[in-house]
Amino acid sequence: MVTTTPQEPVYVIGAGPGGLAVAATLRARGVRAVVLEKSGSVGTSWRGHYDRLRLHTTRRLSALPGLRIPRAYGRWVARADVVRYLEAYAEKHELDVVTGVEVHRIERAQDGTGGWVLHATGGRRLTGRAVVVATGFNHTPRLPDWPGLDTYEGDLVHAREYRNPEAYAGRDVLVVGVGNTGAEIAADLAEGGAARVRIAVRTVPHIVRRTTAGWPAQRTGVLIRRLPPALVDLLGTGMNRLAVPDLAAHGLPRPDTGLATRARAGAIPVQDVGLIDAVRTGKVEVVAAVEALEGREVVLADGTRIAPDAVIAATGYRRALEPLVGHLDVLDTHGRPRVSGPRCPRQAPGLYFTGFVNPISGMLRELSRDAHRISRRIARTTPARERKRG
Ligand SMILES: Cc1cc2nc3c(=O)[nH]c(=O)nc-3n(C[C@H](O)[C@H](O)[C@H](O)COP(=O)(O)OP(=O)(O)OC[C@H]3O[C@@H](n4cnc5c(N)ncnc54)[C@H](O)[C@@H]3O)c2cc1C
Repeated sequence: MVTTTPQEPVYVIGAGPGGLAVAATLRARGVRAVVLEKSGSVGTSWRGHYDRLRLHTTRRLSALPGLRIPRAYGRWVARADVVRYLEAYAEKHELDVVTGVEVHRIERAQDGTGGWVLHATGGRRLTGRAVVVATGFNHTPRLPDWPGLDTYEGDLVHAREYRNPEAYAGRDVLVVGVGNTGAEIAADLAEGGAARVRIAVRTVPHIVRRTTAGWPAQRTGVLIRRLPPALVDLLGTGMNRLAVPDLAAHGLPRPDTGLATRARAGAIPVQDVGLIDAVRTGKVEVVAAVEALEGREVVLADGTRIAPDAVIAATGYRRALEPLVGHLDVLDTHGRPRVSGPRCPRQAPGLYFTGFVNPISGMLRELSRDAHRISRRIARTTPARERKRG
């Protein structure tokens, strides 16, 4: 059975900030949009993040189109307030969000209309005239393919399962990975009563202060985003030397590739929310990357073997777009959409992606910009008669 509506809507997949922003801007342009969300509520990712998380981008530069984040939430908005904001956002824009519906596969409609068929929970087949995929950059927790992973006898979780340091009080913990999440979890554990905290580092990150003399790092990211990468690398090195102490003696030498070069490869700088002090004072020890797991032991790249009580793998996420769109030849070798934002793949007109690039200027800001651009593009192809009804 194919489910159609008198006026086929634009389907937006995912009710995170990206999907909600697209739906709101489409609605503002009179285009009917339906958001399909697999979980039971909007902002699911933010409900599941660790307790102490705050936005590292400013309140002003993190707001989605058409609703400010309340001033009362402060400059660095707390995780629970992000959830509150997203709920208020869906309500204020009267968004049509259908929860409990997971989209498994997207296909071209075969009726020659140029639309798209979505295969979803409960055998549903929904046809839309355009589809916006907003299923998240951080979709599925990724664990490296460490030798011995399957037979490891220790306590190992992915960072997505970490909430707070309570369960780790008095324990020896190894955090693997020094992205924003790993850095913050290590600092949280050190402040929260873990007996020993080590962090395994493969590539030394760029660390930036969240603010310098009141000036947020994000604003610098916005300013330098369009500059030539070589210049940004140079500026980044200079800023790093000024703002961040030399931690080489503690196992964190300065990075040997530039900030923009790294960002282009997908590694945004780590915003310091406690790691610098924790490393400097020895509360967090830096160790070599993890190579393998053996019985109760973790084997590090320098040959050392350690046996922590618990391992938290802050080793990132996969986009997991293959089941959804892999057959449409729209993904690159890393499983990311080849084009995103307002551009559609040439062979898939009407199929949009948002939230799959992570610029140094802030992902939420980027999602807002994408939302405007995508909805403008879709509205252009919507007959005025339908827009009025929308
Ligand atoms: C720990 C952490 C901190 C961050 N902090 C910041 C910050 O300070 N500032 C900033 O700008 N950015 C930050 N980001 C990055 C980014 O802004 C967030 O990840 C943001 O939630 C991305 O929004 P999204 O809508 O693209 O994805 P998500 O918020 O992940 O939403 C995707 C939604 O799609 C749903 N979904 C997935 N697959 C399907 C499917 N097949 N069918 C139906 N529904 C589906 C999911 O359930 C989810 O609700 C942070 C990210 C992380 C992980």
